[in-house]
Amino acid sequence: MARTPIMAGNWKMNLDHLEANHLVQKLALTLKDLGHDYSATEVVVVPPFTDIRTVQTVVDADDLPIGYGAQDVSTHDEGAYTGEVSTGMLTKLGCSYVVVGHSERREYHGESNELVGAKAKKVLDAGMTPIMCCGEALDIRKAGTHVEYVVGQINAMLAGLSAEEVAKSVIAYEPIWAIGTGEVATPEDAQEVCGAIRVRIAELYDQGVADAVRIQYGGSVKSSNVRDIMGQPDVDGALVGGASLKADEFSKIVTFLK
Ligand code: PGA
Repeated sequence: MARTPIMAGNWKMNLDHLEANHLVQKLALTLKDLGHDYSATEVVVVPPFTDIRTVQTVVDADDLPIGYGAQDVSTHDEGAYTGEVSTGMLTKLGCSYVVVGHSERREYHGESNELVGAKAKKVLDAGMTPIMCCGEALDIRKAGTHVEYVVGQINAMLAGLSAEEVAKSVIAYEPIWAIGTGEVATPEDAQEVCGAIRVRIAELYDQGVADAVRIQYGGSVKSSNVRDIMGQPDVDGALVGGASLKADEFSKIVTFLK
């Protein structure tokens, strides 16, 4: 089955309202100039909560084919959960994606695979698509146990999800040692783990689900390395942090131009 590649920009805790407005407009214009075919490669931006409304306004005003979403979500629907944002709040803002289990949330907010799986379920129940993150730290990579570590994360994260739910999900393999460090995994490193994730999904569900699920690589993706990474058979896109904050650079990444 042909999978449509998906390039997502994770803005993290960057950009205010005006900067967000400017970036989405410039991204759309640059991609237009480059003749980008959105049906061939999906484009998604993931701003902080405070910029989602801004992105929605720009996207709606020009009917842009750019998807957008949030960097996290609550497992609760409403009520006394100070600081939390629900899936219902996100769908009302037109979000179609939610990143769950980013390594920065796991590290700084103690999120477990089980919580990440529960968030993914909540996102799917609301009709949005989770981008479920996984990936090993440097010590695990050095010990050579990264494949079994990531497969363990996948087992735990997907435990409560049906075949149909996994088939429409996105998984992002992001080795922690490659995030924001400039240290990019080689295309072979990315393929090794993305391939192992797909094999595990075939074992847990069936080959149809494994063929349908989209798996991104993330970690210091730039216009200069994206082509080789995207050339790997089990890599269906990229989750891009720092390089997604510049319209020119992110456009080149989306269109794979050097
Ligand atoms: P980076 O971040 O591209 O800045 O390494 C990727 C991510 O954390 O999603």
